[in-house]
Amino acid sequence: MSFPSRLVLVVNSGSSSMKFTLLPVGGGEALVSGVAECLGLPEARIVVKENGTKTVVDLERGDHAGAIAALFAGLDRKGVLDRVAVVGHRIVQGGDVFQESVVVTPQVIADIEALAPLAPLHNPAHLVGLRACIDAMPGVPQVAVFDTAFHQTIPPAAYTYAIPRSLAREHAVRRYGAHGTSHRYVSHEAARFLGLPADDHGIVVAHLGNGASATAVVNGRSVDTSMGMTPLEGLVMGTRSGDIDVGAVAHLARVTGKDIGQIDALLNKESGLLGISELSNDCRTLEAAADEGHAGAKLALDVFVHRLARYVGALAVSLPRFDALVFTGGIGENSARIRAMTLKHLAVFGFDVDEVANAAICGGKAGVVGRSAGPIAAVVPTDEEGLIAADAARLVGLVNANDDEPLRVAAVV
Ligand code: ADP
Repeated sequence: MSFPSRLVLVVNSGSSSMKFTLLPVGGGEALVSGVAECLGLPEARIVVKENGTKTVVDLERGDHAGAIAALFAGLDRKGVLDRVAVVGHRIVQGGDVFQESVVVTPQVIADIEALAPLAPLHNPAHLVGLRACIDAMPGVPQVAVFDTAFHQTIPPAAYTYAIPRSLAREHAVRRYGAHGTSHRYVSHEAARFLGLPADDHGIVVAHLGNGASATAVVNGRSVDTSMGMTPLEGLVMGTRSGDIDVGAVAHLARVTGKDIGQIDALLNKESGLLGISELSNDCRTLEAAADEGHAGAKLALDVFVHRLARYVGALAVSLPRFDALVFTGGIGENSARIRAMTLKHLAVFGFDVDEVANAAICGGKAGVVGRSAGPIAAVVPTDEEGLIAADAARLVGLVNANDDEPLRVAAVV
């Protein structure tokens, strides 16, 4: 494969894994992507995808620096390492410090570190990856793109929890939201795709993957979202409960004797679709099982849809006008069944589901799946890596800040 002369590397560093995607400056398909897995364990390996083929290599040094070294050695062998002009890093928690993406400086690193108490699993892991990249390529600028930044336009009435102000202030307890990069990209693309004026639209985006959240967007700005201080609040997710009465949590702690850490793990890792179905966190598996009569799978899907519909209704009240409900994420882009169930559940809006279009839209296509006298229902595939790459290239001056990239949705039904 021939590589363009300037490339952006997008890195998403977790505690035991590191995902990466190599993209051309200015947008386009991923050239190389992959993940280093089981970091810190003897079986640490790197899986690289290129041209539809997958290579798995055991890592000699199984930490983040070892993963970066292996990735760079691979790029060097292809003779393209020195074409990497900027690295964009996904950072989960930017608190109220970061309203937008930034070029990484020592101060930015210190701020991300200081925000670690708000995202103890994520921010420290991001920093390990960020530092490994800085060490491995000292001359190349690094850009931080925050999952929370898009939601910094949410007003106090929507982000404030009704707890004593002094405690909230002292411990930075408020709603920050998440999936901001996806909601920002999808709402922008949806407005263009549906021909809505950039400065006069109201959209609810439902990002439904293993993690799931919904956001109300007015004229390109987030005004309310379902996730809270952490990604646990809101919709039912693969293994997260989403909303639950805190009184029920206190009750569970009392009757089971579990401590707060165990309860946190229970609600994040053993709940959601997995917890209800007692079968799987995977929507495909649950759809197949429900068809075979599995009662738990059916209930899990029903609860997922009910909660989603409830949130769509709640978020719509933050819009001056409800123009569109947009589905995205693995479930939103691929599950005609969940989309149809949700639109039928939203009977108050009178959606008429286009069964043919709905059944045809999957695998990265965009299209309209339902209409009503008010909002349209549509699917727009997300592209978080693409937006991180675009931000990184723009912030270091590789592309013009005013360039409006062509619509990137793969195909229109
Ligand atoms: P993540 O949040 O981990 O990035 P994804 O956005 O990839 O997750 O979404 C994963 C979810 O998408 C899984 O529940 C999976 O079952 C679901 N999914 C993918 N394809 C389909 C499909 N054809 N039908 C139903 N669900 C699907």
